[in-house]
Amino acid sequence: MPRGHARSTSGLDDRLTAGQGQFGPPLSWVGLEEQLWRSGRVSSASVATIRGQRSTDWTMGRRRRRCFLASAGMSASSTFDVIFVGAGHNALIAASYLVKEGSSVCLLDQHATPGGWVRSEELTLPGFVHDTFSALHPIFVGGPVFAELGPELAEHGLRYVQGQTSTGASFPDGRSALIETDPDALAAELDRLGERHAWTQLMTAVSPHLDSLGPLLGMDLASPEAAGLLRALCRDTGSSVPFTALLSGSGRDLLGDRFASEELIMAWLPWLLHVGLGPHDAGGALWSVLLMATLLAGNPAPVGGSGRLAEALTGLVTAHGAEIRTGVEVDAIVTTGGRATGVRTTDGEQLTATQAVIASTTPDQLYGRLLRDAAGVPESTRAQARGYRYRRGCFQISLALSARPRFADSRLDAGGGINVGRGLNELMASVGQAADGLLPTHPSISWHEPTAVDPSRAPAGQAVVRLQVLDVPLYPTGDAAEEFAVDAGWTTSVAERFADRVIAGAAQHISGLEQTVVGRHILSPADLARTNPNAGPGDHASGHNALSQAFTQRPIPAHRGGYATVVPDLYLIGAASWPGPGVGGSSGRAVARRLLNSP
Ligand SMILES: Cc1cc2nc3c(=O)[nH]c(=O)nc-3n(C[C@H](O)[C@H](O)[C@H](O)COP(=O)(O)OP(=O)(O)OC[C@H]3O[C@@H](n4cnc5c(N)ncnc54)[C@H](O)[C@@H]3O)c2cc1C
Repeated sequence: MPRGHARSTSGLDDRLTAGQGQFGPPLSWVGLEEQLWRSGRVSSASVATIRGQRSTDWTMGRRRRRCFLASAGMSASSTFDVIFVGAGHNALIAASYLVKEGSSVCLLDQHATPGGWVRSEELTLPGFVHDTFSALHPIFVGGPVFAELGPELAEHGLRYVQGQTSTGASFPDGRSALIETDPDALAAELDRLGERHAWTQLMTAVSPHLDSLGPLLGMDLASPEAAGLLRALCRDTGSSVPFTALLSGSGRDLLGDRFASEELIMAWLPWLLHVGLGPHDAGGALWSVLLMATLLAGNPAPVGGSGRLAEALTGLVTAHGAEIRTGVEVDAIVTTGGRATGVRTTDGEQLTATQAVIASTTPDQLYGRLLRDAAGVPESTRAQARGYRYRRGCFQISLALSARPRFADSRLDAGGGINVGRGLNELMASVGQAADGLLPTHPSISWHEPTAVDPSRAPAGQAVVRLQVLDVPLYPTGDAAEEFAVDAGWTTSVAERFADRVIAGAAQHISGLEQTVVGRHILSPADLARTNPNAGPGDHASGHNALSQAFTQRPIPAHRGGYATVVPDLYLIGAASWPGPGVGGSSGRAVARRLLNSP
């Protein structure tokens, strides 16, 4: 197959019947030749679109409110088994499991469309379909939700596509590393980089942990089953890389100690920023391993854009009778006798939940706003929620290009997410500058060109690209390069100047890039904060995800890593809960299973 071509997606049934959970195939990654790879195994269902749901407005006024009812003839009720605050993908996934078992559910979201940060729009020019927020869904496709709901989602138009390239690294001097889904290609690349032995040693050491970690990613950590797995992992002190060393170590140390190739390290290390950690953060070693396990299987995206996942989930839940009300902001969670019994909207409407309220939010929002008047919430819990930390900002540029971009190393043109930077020292420097409140001199860039594998995203021969920069401050106070003044945070002019710098940085890897830009759309941390309260001041990870705020500490110690809050019948799901940010849906699935009493 020529490079840059999407793998056709068929044979999903094999994967579903194999009973694979999170990280199914890559668990056997010790012997490269033995690996089963998922690339080329996704549904080939035809694509259908739920029309009329796109809008660049973040919130809607009353007159534009919309109700996605199961059938046009149904009228809105005010009592449901389960009410959701927010209709992001985690909530939609929880609702999917519940409605399939006959529960009545209502999802309320302040946005014009369901899906939260899973959305695609023509942000720049007609015909150029960009992912407004999330783009790549490797965690979702590798996890249990896709295995269980995939066939029905395919009926609602969801189809995934991925190229041979999962990830890689590009340097301005033409050096590169490439992580391909084909094991032979990966082995050849490791040989080229002189890292095959070190790679095999690391994988051999960590593979046994993945047997427990895979299931843990989909579990409520406060459950007895999770506690048992965690205890067993912590008891193992005989491995050359014990679980506790991964849990407390940094990604920089794990990868830097084992690999001599800067190219290979840079293919992996910047991914920590995507899950809310920095290279030096405790917990980064573990997440490096988890991300490697995920990305070795590929880096898929929905055909037609990320938003197709939200559309398919919306189609699924409404087909089973769920009600989705958009343009509705929840102002408070109602408690009766100390239990959650419903919600009140900013319009003063009250809806009753007979079984549970599930909030897709952050703990500071939950306890600081939605439960502000609730009796019985311990002050210590409120204090923990007030102390919830946001660490870095997210700056994202969507480019419309008049021609397909080309890296110096053409192997990087085959899709996936490519780490575009200047090397390890520059990554450390840019993360440090961001921590000091400065716009980095040389920001590291996560490059994704969807049109490499999905030509439907742009007019023929043209392209869309996402440039994501995750080493920026939430509240910039200066410019490390001292090229422009930063007096009032993320103003439009600061964002525009910084975007110029990011694009110029990318152009050092893609010759002629700037000349092909025909449209650009900028999302600064300040913009992000306006789109969704889950961003806090502009954090795409919905809160720092280092060990101090991860695992059983996520979102706050009072929740013990579980989804039950301190208020009975009230659950918190989403990126602020375990296992953290990303399109995956495991928290939604775990809560639904708990409510359905599934093992
Ligand atoms: C710019 C960006 C790029 C990203 N890229 C990727 C990527 O490529 N791959 C990946 O895996 N992950 C990515 N992520 C992370 C991922 O998108 C998120 O972690 C994930 O989508 C969160 O989903 P969720 O269901 O938990 O909640 P959200 O998507 O946050 O949805 C929650 C919804 O609830 C609504 N809501 C909250 N409070 C209220 C209220 N009081 N009343 C009414 N509605 C309310 C919100 O408005 C929102 O619509 C990215 C995130 C961002 C911001």
